[in-house]
Amino acid sequence: MKIGVYPGTFDPITNGHIDIIRRSLQVFDKVIVAVAPNPKKKPIFDIHERVEMIREATRDIPNVEIEIFEGLLAEYMKRKNAHAIIRGLRAVSDFEHEFMMALMNRKLDSEAETVFLMPSEEYSYLTSSAIKEVASYGGVVKDLVPPIVARRLRDHFQKKQK
Ligand code: ADP
Repeated sequence: MKIGVYPGTFDPITNGHIDIIRRSLQVFDKVIVAVAPNPKKKPIFDIHERVEMIREATRDIPNVEIEIFEGLLAEYMKRKNAHAIIRGLRAVSDFEHEFMMALMNRKLDSEAETVFLMPSEEYSYLTSSAIKEVASYGGVVKDLVPPIVARRLRDHFQKKQK
């Protein structure tokens, strides 16, 4: 069984992430979405909320597991007997950072392969940061994120205004 691990912050999950998960399942038998706490990125949703939103948004996709992961990805991969790290590539701007991380993971474990998948064009400009920015000003994000995420964003920014 080929296992892929899709690591990220997912603050919050967007339709771009979901597109990558669906594409991954054409290549892997199982995909583990590995959610990193990543306090350095100052996420607006705590790790449990992020996991809950991913769980709800991927409910109808078989062979997806969601886990919290901390520490070194290369070690997590070994623990999970996973075959490859999955990352999404949107534009050239993603490339340098992704290239560096893929090579660093390979340095830590010579067998750690990273597979890059490209999302559908309509999501190629979509980032979690842009979604948060738009939602913070009350903009409409419903075509870009799963319904649960749109609701949670609304709640989050409404609470903040009070
Ligand atoms: P990280 O903090 O690890 O970059 P993200 O949640 O921002 O976490 O992204 C996780 C992965 O998903 C990264 O490989 C990123 O390039 C990819 N990704 C994010 N948004 C999209 C999108 N709209 N289309 C394709 N891949 C995406």
